[in-house]
Amino acid sequence: MIGLEIHCQLTGLESKLFCPCKADYRGLKPNTNICPVCAGLPGSLPRLNRQAVIWAAKIALALGCNIPDRIAFFRKNYFYPDLPKNFQITQTTLYGDVCAGTDGAVTTAGKKIRIRRVQLEEDPGRIVYSGSSERTQTTLVDYNRAGTPLVEIVTEPDFEDPRQAREFLVILADILENLRISDPGLEGAVRADGNVSVSGGNRVEVKNVNSFHDLEKALRYETTRQQSLLERGIPVVQETRHWDDRRRITISARVKEEETDYRYHLESDIPWVMIPDATQERLRESIPESIASRRERYVTEYGIAEQVASVLSSDRYFSDLFDGARNTANTREAANIITTDLMGLLDTREKRRSSKLTPALLGSLADAVVSSKLTRNLAKISLAEMVKTGEDLDTISSRLGLDDSPVLDINSIIESVIQENPKAMKEARTNPQVINYLVGMTMKKTGGKADPGLVSKRLRERAGI
Ligand code: ADP
Ligand code: MG
Ligand code: ZN
Repeated sequence: MIGLEIHCQLTGLESKLFCPCKADYRGLKPNTNICPVCAGLPGSLPRLNRQAVIWAAKIALALGCNIPDRIAFFRKNYFYPDLPKNFQITQTTLYGDVCAGTDGAVTTAGKKIRIRRVQLEEDPGRIVYSGSSERTQTTLVDYNRAGTPLVEIVTEPDFEDPRQAREFLVILADILENLRISDPGLEGAVRADGNVSVSGGNRVEVKNVNSFHDLEKALRYETTRQQSLLERGIPVVQETRHWDDRRRITISARVKEEETDYRYHLESDIPWVMIPDATQERLRESIPESIASRRERYVTEYGIAEQVASVLSSDRYFSDLFDGARNTANTREAANIITTDLMGLLDTREKRRSSKLTPALLGSLADAVVSSKLTRNLAKISLAEMVKTGEDLDTISSRLGLDDSPVLDINSIIESVIQENPKAMKEARTNPQVINYLVGMTMKKTGGKADPGLVSKRLRERAGI
């Protein structure tokens, strides 16, 4: 059995969870992004970031959770140098369902993974060891990250193997990105700990894993370790283990605290936050359509091939563009243009940002291809121009003289090739390889401007195969 605890930074927020310091701590000189609140100075008081509460609720809703009428914050007491107050302000369900969300579910690859809860909390600071952590005499601590907003997502132990856990994390990262709340591409923005048990034995928590890929490895290692202990009749100790990236093994870190060790109690410096029905409704409406539902819609509504629909829906930018162009009659061609040409042209964020292509232009291009006004090759050239200039098809055609290039009458070119190669045509009936030769001849005559697939199809028809 495997369950995950995922920490996800709300990287899109301006400020920390309880103070005005910047939420974006990355790349700053150590201990310059701090104030009395996040440095835990006595007498300072927290002030809750409203936007963070809204975003945590959105994540909860996107994960199918219930959100309560009111939420509260609690103090989780523990002592560690990265935690200047000696307690973390977090949420818990120990005293009722008063955290951001509870009882959700996400379906990945046909398997339902239940979400136990979603909670809003602050990130601790960062401990920086100079040299190896066992031998160093000096330990530094940087509080720039302390108090930045985190959402913790806890699943039920519903994963049957490490691969399922990784697949879930990929889907989860998609969901977060889709909400535009967290950028999973940023280092450390989404971190997952795994819990593993085998055959009803104790559960072990695996921490310190840097990537989804390594988490899968760590869980696999841990499963094998526990199985081999049980086979030898040795019980598994309930504990926290760290993944050692270099040695590719897990090592015992500490015996896990019990919930009672944390002495959870209400953080009364932060008032209860009410979430009235009307607000819940508004939040629900603001959740963008999920990638999975987009993919399904593309297949069922527009008859787009599974593979193409999957590529198209997985990227929000291209998916939005397609949805904008979907009112043209030729959605399938629009999808083709995006996945075969546009994704290559706009392969970086910067290129996408400066692209002048609009959904309407894309639609006009798809129409032109389907009605054979443009060959795919000319469409590709026009697409690149649209991206650069935002001009419409007519303007681009006359500017580049695309109109002057002999209007491709592919059929008559094919006929001439057939007439010039009677022997090859006959051979083609018994040797399909010859068709390729004839396609080559035709492409040469069109100056490479025809669609080879289409030419091959026509030639086959003419050869009677
Ligand atoms: P804690 O604070 O003790 O870590 P949480 O409720 O935060 O407790 O997290 C418990 C995690 O452990 C969840 O992800 C849950 O799915 C997982 N878990 C619970 N029981 C088992 C088990 N028997 N085997 C594997 N994972 C488990
Ligand atoms: Mg926990
Ligand atoms: Zn601060």
